[in-house]
Amino acid sequence: LVERMRAHTSTIFAEMSALALRTGAINLGQGFPDTDGPPSLLSDAAANIHGGLNQYPPGVGVPELRSAVAEHQRRFYGLDVDPDTVLITTGATEAIAAAVLALCGPGDEVVTFQPYYDSYAATIALAGAELRAVALRPPSFGFDPDELRAAFSSRTRLVLVNTPHNPTGTVFDREQLTLIGELAAEHDAVVVTDEVYEHMVYDGRAHVPMATLPGLADRTLTISSVGKTFSVTGWKVGWVNGPAELVHAVRAVKQFLTYVSGAPFQPAIAAALALPDSFYTGLATDLQRKRDLLSDGLREAGFTVFDTAGTYFVVTDVTALGFTDGAEFCWTLPERIGVAAVPVSVFCADPDLGRSLVRFAFCKRDEVLEEAVSRLAALR
Ligand code: PMP
Ligand code: GLN
Repeated sequence: LVERMRAHTSTIFAEMSALALRTGAINLGQGFPDTDGPPSLLSDAAANIHGGLNQYPPGVGVPELRSAVAEHQRRFYGLDVDPDTVLITTGATEAIAAAVLALCGPGDEVVTFQPYYDSYAATIALAGAELRAVALRPPSFGFDPDELRAAFSSRTRLVLVNTPHNPTGTVFDREQLTLIGELAAEHDAVVVTDEVYEHMVYDGRAHVPMATLPGLADRTLTISSVGKTFSVTGWKVGWVNGPAELVHAVRAVKQFLTYVSGAPFQPAIAAALALPDSFYTGLATDLQRKRDLLSDGLREAGFTVFDTAGTYFVVTDVTALGFTDGAEFCWTLPERIGVAAVPVSVFCADPDLGRSLVRFAFCKRDEVLEEAVSRLAALR
């Protein structure tokens, strides 16, 4: 294995899911729903497979889906997106990787926040670029503006933003995003935003896409994915859109990573994106209730629980349960009480930052969460 990938040989999701399977634990580690997406989406995709949509689709994606993504950006955010500047990818993961590989190389720096989704560090390492991670600290998981400023340099090529944020569940507000955008503009850096949890924001909050901020659309690549919105994480269809020149660069890399993505899924997803508002609000309402169910249970079990504004996840501190190391806590939890979770330290460039923090996913059926809560109560 090449030297630059040696720190990234496995993922915590694979390891913890394997442990959960081995021990029969309820898996609240890896974030995936345990129910399928809208029935019309599933039957459309099945019909496409039986109807012969099984060969390579166009490299940029099928026209219906590129148009549907553009329409989605207009409908929810008032953004004027040309379908020709939408590139369909193999999940958000490929969009992120292709963007980083297309725009960064040795000597370049990427500013992001830690904890971060684990593919960020691995992808930046693949590109041979350098990660500059700004801390998000509990309880609010906001950042220190001076620390952010100090992370930028003349070598900053890209700023990788994730809102709503995995794993902390924080949703950046307009003021925070504006500062990030101003610093990016000052350093002539490209903004890459990962918005895969865009429809999972709670308590009446709003998701603010970076591309909607004044002057930022010209330097922003917006990434999302259907895995979360339609509860089909295994389909791996995502997209990126932004200024034509930047999207062309991403496309140049994407075509040699996977060439094309998910032929039978693409037209089905195009139709699902047009589902009525009630689908989208229902998704958020449901998840908000699940968030409360699990957060309350964790609190009662003795965890320090931080507020979750968006995503599938709630972050806890296990210090009050007598643990200083969240990783040690997570490795023993399945055997002890039959629940799996993931340590936040593995998402940090400085593991001490997330040492005592543990993430739980609440994107599960109510009865599964209730059973998990009753098992967690044994920790008291
Ligand atoms: N970004 C974040 C923040 C995520 O949590 C995920 C979740 N899997 C991804 C990207 C990857 O999305 P996809 O499965 O569409 O590649
Ligand atoms: N996004 C999900 C999570 O953070 C799953 C990630 C994965 O399996 N790579 O848990």
